[in-house]
Amino acid sequence: MAKILVTGGCGYIGSHTIVDLINNGFEVVSIDNLSRSQASILDGVKKITGKEIQNFEVDLSNDGELKSIYKDLKDIDGIIHFAAYKAVGESVEHPLLYYKNNIGSLVNILEASKALNIPHFVFSSSCTIYGNVQKLPVDENAPMGMAESPYGMTKQMGEAIVNDFVKANADHQSILLRYFNPVGAHYSAEIGELPIGVPANLVPYITQTAMGIRQELTIFGDDYDTRDGSCIRDYVHVMDIANAHTKALQYMLDGKMQQNCDVFNLGTGNGVSVLEAVASFEKVNNLSLNYKIGPRRQGDVVAVYADNSKAIQQLGWQVQYDLDEMMRSAWEWQKKLSS
Ligand code: UDP
Repeated sequence: MAKILVTGGCGYIGSHTIVDLINNGFEVVSIDNLSRSQASILDGVKKITGKEIQNFEVDLSNDGELKSIYKDLKDIDGIIHFAAYKAVGESVEHPLLYYKNNIGSLVNILEASKALNIPHFVFSSSCTIYGNVQKLPVDENAPMGMAESPYGMTKQMGEAIVNDFVKANADHQSILLRYFNPVGAHYSAEIGELPIGVPANLVPYITQTAMGIRQELTIFGDDYDTRDGSCIRDYVHVMDIANAHTKALQYMLDGKMQQNCDVFNLGTGNGVSVLEAVASFEKVNNLSLNYKIGPRRQGDVVAVYADNSKAIQQLGWQVQYDLDEMMRSAWEWQKKLSS
């Protein structure tokens, strides 16, 4: 049974990935300093899987703290590195916080992978690295755009750092996964996203509005050059994203890597407008959402959705959940949170 270290295991994608790893027979340990997450999410993981996950409450950006647990990280076959800050607006206000945390943590965990001879590494990247794309759907060969924020820059730099690391260390391999818009929750509603403060992302804002926590949703612009004027994104179920991590690790463990570092888009391939996402939420949950049209949000790209054929062909990944299931499970989780 392969043993995987998940950093950020108490976070949104991290916790769902732990569930998928366990369901596929992996053993898991987590490192999460709980700065933006709650340990109680591991209770949800236990309810779903029956497994108690050990979490080391360590700040990865603190070299000494991480080294102090090297002795506890024996016999690990792979690392999935989720732990990072992800609020775009906050990163504009506090760039150094983002560089210190996201880049510092990455460098330290790569050092750990070298010191502890852990050969396989999966890095959480984002479609934000593409910026405003010329050709849709966007594939992995599209050039990187100008990063819109320090957050986006940490993803571009992160990819480069991982690439350089495996180039210089031939016995290490890495897969970079570029997420489009992960949404939804495990169907059991035992785990899901825990937004901090006022959500910046669409789906938690929708569910909080439906719950009455927010008065109304503002749709950021309906005058874009799209089919209904609102922006287009590729929403992808968090459990599908989670399963791609399991598949990426298995791919490396099976010796299928053709180069030391490879990159995959994780999206459904379907572009969905903001108004379509709202309509799906209303329909599937039989609710009417209080929303208005507002001005455009600065920095938003008009439309982006994935060419996901590489992940499907090489990793054997499949998209299992549709938009309605994303919206249904997101609402079930919100109801659970608010109960
Ligand atoms: N959006 C919106 N109202 C909100 C939050 C988001 O209209 O309160 C829109 C946003 O303009 C974008 C889409 O929803 O077109 C997805 O935004 P999100 O912040 O979730 O993801 P990202 O911008 O990173 O793709």
